[in-house]
Amino acid sequence: MTDGVHETLDKLCDEGIEQVIGWRRHLHRNPELPNREAATARLVARELAGFGLDEVRTGIAGHGVVGVLRGGLPGDRVAALRADMDALPVPDRCGADFAATGQASHACGHDCHTAMLLGAARALADVRVRERLPGTVLFVFQPAEEGPPVDEEGGARLMVAEGAFADPVPTMAFGMHVTPHPKGWVGYKSGPMYGASCLVRVTVTGRQAHASSPWYGVDPMPAVGALLTGIGQLYRQVSAFSPVTVSIGHIEDVGRYNVIGETVTLWGTIRCAEERDMPEVKRRLTALAEHTAEAYGASAAVELLQDVPAVRNDAAWVEAALPTLRRVAGAERVVEVGGTLGYDDVSELITRFGGLYVMLGVQDTALDPAGGEPVPVSGGRGLVGNHHPGFYADDATLITGVRLHAHAAYDHLAGSLVTR
Ligand SMILES: [Zn+2]
Ligand SMILES: [Zn+2]
Repeated sequence: MTDGVHETLDKLCDEGIEQVIGWRRHLHRNPELPNREAATARLVARELAGFGLDEVRTGIAGHGVVGVLRGGLPGDRVAALRADMDALPVPDRCGADFAATGQASHACGHDCHTAMLLGAARALADVRVRERLPGTVLFVFQPAEEGPPVDEEGGARLMVAEGAFADPVPTMAFGMHVTPHPKGWVGYKSGPMYGASCLVRVTVTGRQAHASSPWYGVDPMPAVGALLTGIGQLYRQVSAFSPVTVSIGHIEDVGRYNVIGETVTLWGTIRCAEERDMPEVKRRLTALAEHTAEAYGASAAVELLQDVPAVRNDAAWVEAALPTLRRVAGAERVVEVGGTLGYDDVSELITRFGGLYVMLGVQDTALDPAGGEPVPVSGGRGLVGNHHPGFYADDATLITGVRLHAHAAYDHLAGSLVTR
């Protein structure tokens, strides 16, 4: 039925892989933080234009880019393939000779995502495939997946708000994230896969005083100490069968060793595997902060910012996609994986347009037969999680990601990767 399109796609993906590795290494060496992806977006737009796409839309939600490829055959389906482009303020200790040298790095592997999607665009836009595509492919290069600076907007939600998916409207969104799973393995999960997330800023305010005589003021520090201890108990107030975490990763105070400062600001994040738990956790955190501060004579203001919905893969989409995933990665390397409380705002697209998100293994690991979790293999580079300075991704795995994008898009347009 597909008349060799898959084979042609694979040949084109193979032919382009050296270029994909080149893009990946260049991007890795030149990471850009969320909402600052100017040079990355320029590279993406230039390459997409070079492939001869019908349209290359730039400047969406900051530095977002959407390439539009209209196939040569009639068809109403629209496959939106999505990659994120931003890096993190984490030093690069991945050990590669293309490691970044500044204060930012691609510790989440978005350099791989961007390069793999460019590779798929190159293959799908080739005239030998393009004239046999019954529908449209959108290549979505998204900024600020890791969250924009707190006083800015950005990411997938802003791309939607700016109309990036208004014409044409996708009938499927597809994407993947590189993870420490074994190289070339594809992990899928029905139901909640990535958690719902909310950025939290708590400002505890007291009254400044000399450190020798705290009774002349209100010391916010003890209130913060009690609040941190209380936060550690919040998880017990929602069902233990749906995981929740509340973490404070950063605290700023304005005091000095001999000055009791006026305020202490806590920055953290709430994660919920089930989105329905989020309002309750927010309510309880707010009550805890306000009442704890009050007990110490201080006050607390809780701000709940940058809500991201959970990634929830519909079982029907997973079932529809399994033949594609197995064809690309080999059936023995396609496995069901557990969920995570990491977030990915690809959820803004999958919730609206359907489709699915998968994990692509890129490290020297094997699946532990007991638990199905990745464990390091001897003689390899180890297991290093995303956001760690040492996070690495093996170039040899990029081909699987390029082919996943290309096959998913074609299969959707051709009518096999659909839910009705
Ligand atoms: Zn990340
Ligand atoms: Zn990421």
